[in-house]
Amino acid sequence: MAQYTITRTCGHEDTINITGTNVRNQHRGEVRRQERRACLACHTAAEHRAGARVTADLDLPPLTGSTKQIAWAEAIRGRAAPAVERHVEELVASIGVNGFTPAFCDVWIDAMREVLTGRTDARWWIDHSDDAAEAIYRIGAAALRAVVYPDGP
Ligand SMILES: [Zn+2]
Repeated sequence: MAQYTITRTCGHEDTINITGTNVRNQHRGEVRRQERRACLACHTAAEHRAGARVTADLDLPPLTGSTKQIAWAEAIRGRAAPAVERHVEELVASIGVNGFTPAFCDVWIDAMREVLTGRTDARWWIDHSDDAAEAIYRIGAAALRAVVYPDGP
């Protein structure tokens, strides 16, 4: 293992460890790759700002939780919102396929948007930090299932 002191794009110095052989100077590529990134603190701060921007742009409701939880959850919601919009586009494109009607599409989309605007507990977003958009998609699917099969499948 070798230790390198690098300067990140944000201007901060960072120490990184690189494992593996360096007989052919393989470490140089990883050092350059790392130098093209911001440090963790700046990267996290940028994610939090992006989340806050999505909250403002989409006029999403404020989240509840600790200050730290809210910043983290807003970043997750900020990433999920555009992914949900891509799901919306896919669903709209699926209208007419296999009996998927505009009404079914509306149920699914409304349920997904309800999560984006209605889930205000930071905890929920943090619990879905890896799969928020997919979780929202599944909630939409479940809402449609409940309409199509009101007595269960
Ligand atoms: Zn930095």
